Amino acid sequence: MISNLYLKKGKEESLQRFHPWVFSGAVHHIDGNPEEGDLVRVFSADGRFIAVGHWQIGSIVVRVLSFEDIDITDAFWAERLGVALDVRRAIGVAGREDNNTYRLVHGEGDNMPGLVIDVYGRTAVMQAHSVGMHYCREAIAKALKQVMGNELDNVYYKSETTLPYKAELGQENGFLLGSSQEDVAVENGLKFHIDWLKGQKTGFFVDQRDNRSLLERYSCGRSVLNMFCYTGGFSVYAMRGGARLVHSVDSSAKAVDLVNANVELNFPGDNRHQAFAEDAFKFLDNMQTPYDLIILDPPAFAKHRDALRQALRGYTRLNAKAFEKIQPGGILFTFSCSQAVNKDQFRMAVFTAAAQSGRKVRILHQLHQPADHPVNIYHPEGEYLKGLVLYVE
Ligand code: SAH
Repeated sequence: MISNLYLKKGKEESLQRFHPWVFSGAVHHIDGNPEEGDLVRVFSADGRFIAVGHWQIGSIVVRVLSFEDIDITDAFWAERLGVALDVRRAIGVAGREDNNTYRLVHGEGDNMPGLVIDVYGRTAVMQAHSVGMHYCREAIAKALKQVMGNELDNVYYKSETTLPYKAELGQENGFLLGSSQEDVAVENGLKFHIDWLKGQKTGFFVDQRDNRSLLERYSCGRSVLNMFCYTGGFSVYAMRGGARLVHSVDSSAKAVDLVNANVELNFPGDNRHQAFAEDAFKFLDNMQTPYDLIILDPPAFAKHRDALRQALRGYTRLNAKAFEKIQPGGILFTFSCSQAVNKDQFRMAVFTAAAQSGRKVRILHQLHQPADHPVNIYHPEGEYLKGLVLYVE
């Protein structure tokens, strides 16, 4: 039985502008006793249907699936996934020989709040961030196969670390469809091992594809330092771009193994590359020879709003070290993937770092997440990745 939730008077306004969340403070009462992950129907105080979505525990109590009064069936998932695939074809990341790595579903950006699906060749890796999506995982996998047909053999479910831990679902990662040992995917003609079994996120950072391409254009003849390299996406592009030398740094020894494997996969025996398992801050402090091009792509320093001020200081400290050390005429690619830090705040943090170093700095490009990580215009919170490309005199 679906519960009916009634909003306080006037609290339907943001939902009528299609913002897809109901906050706990907006709820007047609920007819029924929903458990986390159940479907609930949302009504205004005067009894008008507003939306249907997944109930969850916390400050967001409903994530909206539809603003129409419909049943959430297998056909619903097939329709939503079909639209998502059409969008990826329209932007030219799906259905290509030289690129089979892309994000098919980006949560609210694709009107499927709490769900992420990344495609790596013939395998889709699915990640649920809500209990509601977790309960729908089999239906979604089935619909995905229906929509992608022969293009898809395997669906790997990887939600061990993304589901609310308090829900105590005890979910283990594993295949919902097929099973595959083949772990090489292609991004813009470059090959990458994707560790969907144990890797971070869905195994790869798909969101830097366009920014890696831009970096490739700047790499020719330069010495490149790729900080926070993880699987070495930027390193491999820099090598194809003709970098003179590429150094990759990550504090995780496993990441260093991954970057070495990916460089070997694309450029066997190429001795321009070297990887270091070291803390980024220490590496910059101890660095003797300055580089011509530095990439700073750290993990989210602010996972939530409370950590904002400290995170901004972290970005300033990190960027200041790069400004101190980069060659005159050097290029800095600097990023933040913290959703809690907005574009202006990040730019201010980097501005502060530049001012501290006293270097002359020009902004060449302002970067963001790619088109397969779309932002729902009614849900600006979906914007998270920002970057600057700087020329340091
Ligand atoms: N640039 C990568 C993604 C970076 S993810 C890509 O394009 O795929 C962030 C990485 O930073 C992780 O691999 C993590 O191991 C690493 N990391 C976290 N803290 C670090 C630190 N203090 N020093 C160096 N690496 C760190």
